[in-house]
Amino acid sequence: MEEEIICDICGKSGARVRHISRSYGKGDNLLIIENVPVISCPHCGESYLTAETLHEIERIKLHRKSLAVERNVPVAIFA
Ligand SMILES: [Zn+2]
Repeated sequence: MEEEIICDICGKSGARVRHISRSYGKGDNLLIIENVPVISCPHCGESYLTAETLHEIERIKLHRKSLAVERNVPVAIFA
């Protein structure tokens, strides 16, 4: 059962939540946050993070030492 989400950008319902991995910083400061909810709207094509999600990301970045799990992950750079 998917809940109907109203798009913040165009105001239509039917936006979907996708969960993606995002990376912040680089080198030794690289932090990858998995499972970040992104709202994507089929009507206007926009994808965005909610204020709540952005707030949580800031919190994770602040507390990365205690929240992050050290893992050696291969990271590909698309450039
Ligand atoms: Zn929209």
